[in-house]
Amino acid sequence: MKDTFKHKGLRKKLVEEVRNKGIKDENVLSALNNVPRHFFMDSSFLEFAYQDKPFPIGSGQTISQPYTVAFQTELLEVEKGNKVLEIGTGSGYQACILIEMGARVYTVERIKSLYNKTKVLLEQMNYFPKMFYGDGYKGLPAFAPYDRILVTAAAPYVPEGLLKQLKPGGIMVIPVGAADTQKMQKIIKLKDGSLDINDCGYFRFVPLLNDRS
Ligand code: SAH
Repeated sequence: MKDTFKHKGLRKKLVEEVRNKGIKDENVLSALNNVPRHFFMDSSFLEFAYQDKPFPIGSGQTISQPYTVAFQTELLEVEKGNKVLEIGTGSGYQACILIEMGARVYTVERIKSLYNKTKVLLEQMNYFPKMFYGDGYKGLPAFAPYDRILVTAAAPYVPEGLLKQLKPGGIMVIPVGAADTQKMQKIIKLKDGSLDINDCGYFRFVPLLNDRS
């Protein structure tokens, strides 16, 4: 697949659209400008890659809307060198945005076929997050603690294991709630271990899955 002049132009427009919707962090906007989103979509959706919309990626899952990706990434306040745990690899798009921000990314996916497909794609694109097939409810204790944790599927509650794996001083961004709508929460773990929980608006994600698929 190629990243043509046309794709780059469409991407610039998308970045401006996302900026106009309120995203201010220039590092987030330039990451969005650097990652060719059309690489992550099935070919039948190629022409839609630079619309600010979610799209199906197979197995009943979606690649999130670019604005939502930018919003979550901005809330996460990623700093260069941060160790970031992402729950819900999906297409791998969000993981690449985090890598562009200078993060060391660990990402977990529950659906084997998506995990396999995305692993191949990201290697081809020269992005190398540490990828795991597993259950995001449990996080990834072997590599904890993390500076940042980003959950990209709807969580009915904040999983205890994830809170444990967050460093004191760390930030977790997670959409919490039932199937139809979730509250975006930015959870800051203070140095003494207590939690500062901030509500940041309503979004709609596919649900975190419980059973191994
Ligand atoms: N971050 C993704 C969007 C993901 S959609 C992207 O940039 O494309 C949510 C993803 O979470 C789906 O791929 C879904 O299969 C995955 N998922 C659902 N339940 C999960 C769980 N318990 N653990 C890990 N991943 C899960």
